[in-house]
Amino acid sequence: MTQPEYKAWERQVRAVGGCENPVYLRGRTVTRDAVSGEVLALFSSASMPWGRLMVPCGNRRSARCEPCSRVYAADAFHRIRAGMVGGKGVSAQVVGHPMVWLTLTAPSFGPVHTTRADGFGNALPCRPRRGGPQCEHDVSMSCAARHGFDDPVLGTPLCADCFDYAGAVLWNAHAGRLWHRFTDDLRRVTLPGISGLTKKEFAASVRVSFAKVAEYQRRGLVHFHGVVRLDGPDGPGTMPPGWATAAMLDSGIRSSAQRVKVVSADGVVGEQELGWGAQVDVQPVFASESNDGLAAARVAGYIAKYATKGAEIVGVVDRPVTCRKCEGTGAGGACPRCEGSGLGVVIAELPVPAHARTLIATAWRLGGLAEYAGLRLRPWAHQCGFGGNFSTASRLYSITRGAQKAERVAWQKERAAKDSEDAAMMLPPNAITDREWEFAGSGWSGVEADVAAGIREQNAFNREMAAEARTEQAWYGTDGGEA
Ligand SMILES: [Zn+2]
Ligand SMILES: [Zn+2]
Ligand SMILES: [Zn+2]
Ligand SMILES: [Zn+2]
Repeated sequence: MTQPEYKAWERQVRAVGGCENPVYLRGRTVTRDAVSGEVLALFSSASMPWGRLMVPCGNRRSARCEPCSRVYAADAFHRIRAGMVGGKGVSAQVVGHPMVWLTLTAPSFGPVHTTRADGFGNALPCRPRRGGPQCEHDVSMSCAARHGFDDPVLGTPLCADCFDYAGAVLWNAHAGRLWHRFTDDLRRVTLPGISGLTKKEFAASVRVSFAKVAEYQRRGLVHFHGVVRLDGPDGPGTMPPGWATAAMLDSGIRSSAQRVKVVSADGVVGEQELGWGAQVDVQPVFASESNDGLAAARVAGYIAKYATKGAEIVGVVDRPVTCRKCEGTGAGGACPRCEGSGLGVVIAELPVPAHARTLIATAWRLGGLAEYAGLRLRPWAHQCGFGGNFSTASRLYSITRGAQKAERVAWQKERAAKDSEDAAMMLPPNAITDREWEFAGSGWSGVEADVAAGIREQNAFNREMAAEARTEQAWYGTDGGEA
């Protein structure tokens, strides 16, 4: 801290929000006049502490980097919210469009320990069964325990031998495809059917937009939450016809969820017909809180929260279990690092619960079979077979992630330009910009990590104070007129 560069270094740490695994770059960006070669602008890491530019890791997962996941969540929140109430280039007209919040789950692959509550929030017995029935492995199929929310037994099977691990892994591996088929069916079959129009007539008067996010259940299966919105023929700026309602969406979603199936390749476990579970939840969404539906901000908050999560609730490892040298192939038995196994770890020795380990091991085993080669089960074994995108949206739903990034970069540039003396200087049209940057490491040393953690803590404290102030304002009103 007594080094002359400390202050500048600390500013860098603040600028990346105390990122848990920053990346360092060395190099420069030079802008020259194409004719005279005169240097018009120079941005170089040479003047920075230890000659390095520090950039945030940008990881979306809160388990990997809390501050970067926060930025990701904020982006997701605004993107989803804009799709419901407008803003960010989305017409404010969308507010009146029929919209629902939907949850599609996986079917059962065997009974698991679960927690339910009565109307007063008291935990109910897990699986009370009269007469104490047993499965073919002599394991009781009844559980009278009232599991707390942090009970590690939650989501694990009553009998591991009865649980269909292959089915669960294959379901995860097909979940993205199933979602795709569901949206297709809703657009082209069920909604036109309900409205009494042909596919073509329906498409000419209504656009259906989606935004979805994947969430893991403790039992190791993904499920999806999403927003479905009906627009007029030209998207968010046009009103859909009066007959296109949230009630119509509701019944269309339920029937598509029941109809669509994906069939897995025929293999050791046979062709499996994979569909959604019976639990389908659909709720209308409104601009603000109401008795008959959810508020847009609440829905956006849910999606933002889920978007920063991986499979951690299942208790699995958060990195691929494949060998890093051969990427899981074993290089035909010749990989020196894994001795041809393709594995980067010993699955039996992973410090994870038995259920999570069996899911990983099953994905690994099936991933080695030719019939499932297209599913890439081995690279996704640590996610129990699911390798799809955690959050996606259809093109017309809202502003895209790319546009959002471009907006942030433009804003940062503008701010940087304001700070700089060159702000007023216009670059001539024949200016040429050269960028030469190279990777110069990542992460923190022990002491640096402590300082970064301190900055994260301080930021969290500031956020808490700001939230408290906002709550107070909401209760007592504002007096200064400041928002
Ligand atoms: Zn980060
Ligand atoms: Zn139980
Ligand atoms: Zn059993
Ligand atoms: Zn290898």
